[in-house]
Amino acid sequence: MPNPYELTRDQFAEFLADQPAFRVQQVMTGLYEHDLFPSEISTLPAPLRARLTDALPLSLSVAHEVATDDGDTVKWAFRLPDGATIETVLMKYRDRVTVCISTQAGCAMACSFCATGQAGFTRQLTVGEVMEQVVRAARTAAPRRLSHVVFMGMGEPLLNYEPVVGAMRLMLSDNAYGLSRRRVTLSTSGVVPMMDRLANDLPVALAVSLHAPNDALRDELVPINKKYPLKELMAACMRYLPFAPRDFLTFEYCMLDGVNDSDQHAKELIDLLKKIPCKLNLIPFNPFPGSGLHKSSPSRVQDFAKRLMDAGIITTVRKTRGDDIAA
Ligand code: SF4
Repeated sequence: MPNPYELTRDQFAEFLADQPAFRVQQVMTGLYEHDLFPSEISTLPAPLRARLTDALPLSLSVAHEVATDDGDTVKWAFRLPDGATIETVLMKYRDRVTVCISTQAGCAMACSFCATGQAGFTRQLTVGEVMEQVVRAARTAAPRRLSHVVFMGMGEPLLNYEPVVGAMRLMLSDNAYGLSRRRVTLSTSGVVPMMDRLANDLPVALAVSLHAPNDALRDELVPINKKYPLKELMAACMRYLPFAPRDFLTFEYCMLDGVNDSDQHAKELIDLLKKIPCKLNLIPFNPFPGSGLHKSSPSRVQDFAKRLMDAGIITTVRKTRGDDIAA
């Protein structure tokens, strides 16, 4: 059953065809400007609120919620109506408010450093299920406004393409959150044909999960590399660049002790990235039971970052924000 966030403005106009036209705007304003659930939109008559609530029930219920002591990072496990669970994280910074959302329950990509990938795929999310994560984060962030959305939670967004693009259209729509394309970042493990499709359809900011500088290692860490090896992936990145909302792409690299963090790996990474306008984001590994992997030491990460920066590659080390809540 669709939830309220499944519908575009035009679809609401159809749904409310028997109502005065201004009701559509009241609904959109209530849902997205005031982050209200339909039952809470007090500008609507009570029978209409009840009709919306019955026909478009919410999809997510909180299975687990944990926050840092300062409340700046909140992580949820949401349960879907069929029992599947997904994860969403809200991160409040001084200058922005970001929500990290899931696009699939589980993930089929089997990246070896990712707990979700090891647990396997459950199902695709709908537009409404993707959007409701954003809305719930926005409600928690209030009175601050959500400024950024990153598709970096559970799942490979480009393998749930239509719902993901539909949700992004809503996020970008002036009828909903009105975010600019540069404030929405989609992270992919490298589904090359879909990167080309996204460039044509809705080129938001793109982050590529790289994690290895050569095919032999990437085949192990990010198995989709066997299908779309680095040469094809980098070519797709170059094709995406002219469409990107900013003149660079982001590459993500999870730092794994003794696996991908040597001086030689840094050198290979420099060779791989030096021709493409990009930023490199080094991510401390988040250990999980049974992975057999360990995080690189902070000094190794710093040294690795310095080598990249000395070679002219803009490199940041992701803050381990929310480490205490395994976010
Ligand atoms: Fe995990 Fe993302 Fe790889 Fe899926 S694509 S296994 S969610 S890192």
